[in-house]
Amino acid sequence: MSGALVAAWLHLAASRIAAERMHLTDLDAAIGDGDHGINLDRGFAALAVRLGAGDGPTEGAGPLLAFAGRTISGTVGGASGALYGRALQRAAAAVEVGPDTAGTTVARIAAALRAAVDGIAALGRSRPGEKTMLDALVPAVAALEAAAVAGARLSDALARMADAADAGALATTPLVATKGRASYLGERSIGHLDPGAASSALLLRALADVASGA
Ligand code: ADP
Ligand code: MG
Repeated sequence: MSGALVAAWLHLAASRIAAERMHLTDLDAAIGDGDHGINLDRGFAALAVRLGAGDGPTEGAGPLLAFAGRTISGTVGGASGALYGRALQRAAAAVEVGPDTAGTTVARIAAALRAAVDGIAALGRSRPGEKTMLDALVPAVAALEAAAVAGARLSDALARMADAADAGALATTPLVATKGRASYLGERSIGHLDPGAASSALLLRALADVASGA
């Protein structure tokens, strides 16, 4: 995975989150405390500014992901700041393992996403089916791993990953939340899309779009 791909992804993610800030916040207002879009926009905007100003690493996927993880942990706040921060740090560690030539790009991104998702599950003590970001991320990493095994091209593999994340996010609507703030609502959380699942799907779609040049 190239540093250029990661940098382009982080910048596109920041602009998509800024555009979806109110939507993500409205989703969180329904079943949480209404700050998810605000939280993420604060962190990703800060990240984009720091990268643009040359305050972060200028190359290398691992150093860029680690810098992003530190910045997101330090600026986002809320549950999602800690969880996405940890995810980015885990992805950074995963891409640092082995020479750049080990495995295909798809397999290397799949391994990084697997490490990120495992990091969220460990920190959040959560698993799919609890109406969280993991309901988007776990099917997404499974789709990406299947695409890697099938030898799919990078852009196709990442599109399948993003499609699986979208479907997983939509499928949170009928679930009862059992983790995070939304769990305080119990059955009243039914009928609402989980904001963290929506933002995870957005972040993975941005990665797919960067890889396909969209
Ligand atoms: P907060 O709940 O602290 O206000 P945010 O609103 O930024 O934080 O993020 C809420 C999102 O975080 C939820 O929609 C959910 O997807 C995710 N989340 C919360 N707790 C957990 C957890 N234990 N495991 C995984 N994801 C979680
Ligand atoms: Mg919130």
